[in-house]
Amino acid sequence: MSAQRLTDLSPEFATRVLHDVPMSKHTSWHVGGPADYFFTPRDVSDLASFVRQLPPEVPVLWIGLGSNLLVRDGGIRGVVIATHGALGALERLSATRIRVEAGVPCARIARQCVKWGLGPAEFFAGIPGTLGGALAMNAGAFGGETWRHVIEVDVLDRRGVRRTRKPADYEIGYRSVKGPDHEWFIGARLEFERAAGVNADAIRDLLDKRKQTQPIGEWSCGSVFTNPPTGHAAQLIESAGLKGFRIGDASVSEKHANFIINHGSARAADVEALIEHVQRTVARVHGIELHTEVRIVGAPA
Ligand SMILES: Cc1cc2nc3c(=O)[nH]c(=O)nc-3n(C[C@H](O)[C@H](O)[C@H](O)COP(=O)(O)OP(=O)(O)OC[C@H]3O[C@@H](n4cnc5c(N)ncnc54)[C@H](O)[C@@H]3O)c2cc1C
Repeated sequence: MSAQRLTDLSPEFATRVLHDVPMSKHTSWHVGGPADYFFTPRDVSDLASFVRQLPPEVPVLWIGLGSNLLVRDGGIRGVVIATHGALGALERLSATRIRVEAGVPCARIARQCVKWGLGPAEFFAGIPGTLGGALAMNAGAFGGETWRHVIEVDVLDRRGVRRTRKPADYEIGYRSVKGPDHEWFIGARLEFERAAGVNADAIRDLLDKRKQTQPIGEWSCGSVFTNPPTGHAAQLIESAGLKGFRIGDASVSEKHANFIINHGSARAADVEALIEHVQRTVARVHGIELHTEVRIVGAPA
């Protein structure tokens, strides 16, 4: 059991690792059982030293803001590594290039790029996660997509070794990024264009537009399913009559059928059962298989 193995950590890390941390506090759905261990590094070197000390058999899950994660009610075995509030550097490298660490919220990238007169970066304002999560998901909004701007990424492997990689090292698709196993993003260099006219109103307009069609402010993970090659997941779910369908305290949003809302006391099992019900119903009604965009992790209760 990982609990015993972590006693090998040096006193410095042993005192900073938290135990039995409810993942419901670290996910935007506000569901999920406890992580055995939870670690927030001080910076990249601190993180590399910590990872080097972890016995190789202890599983690790890196998270950003948990805005695309369904953690099951039994929680996470092993260690959760949180980048938010830790890897927070954001700097301009040249007229059009910036360096961003993995824990920086995407909304901050959008705002800072507007101040620097760089674009198109406004789309990042619509993604309520970190750059690390956006790199892992190839997150996109309003026609923009994360990896279109990546020049290089910095990664850390399971032995605590850092390296720099190019986009050519990854297979990048719609909400999908496949790269070397057992490596995680610690930062990236991104490229934009000079966009002299861009200002904060552009971000406000995009977010206002989104508020009219999406249940912003409620507990969700954004779009649950990716759009199939033909059609939109939301339209398929709505026309299958599933808007408002409820299991426990989770329901398909009345405002946007690709969102599932936790009304306050849903369990991860309710959300997962609802996901499966939507998939079965859409397959029966439309003959189309929906795939989850959200990452489902952890042990059942
Ligand atoms: C209201 C709402 C609206 C949303 N709208 C959009 C949208 O328009 N477009 C869109 O693309 N997404 C959207 N999302 C989903 C979500 O915000 C994105 O997928 C985001 O990129 C996830 O970032 P995160 O930091 O929260 O990642 P998390 O949810 O913490 O993690 C997501 C995945 O990334 C992995 N990961 C996290 N950090 C790292 C790292 N440093 N290195 C390697 N892997 C890592 C995790 O292990 C996990 O598999 C929305 C979510 C909500 C709640």
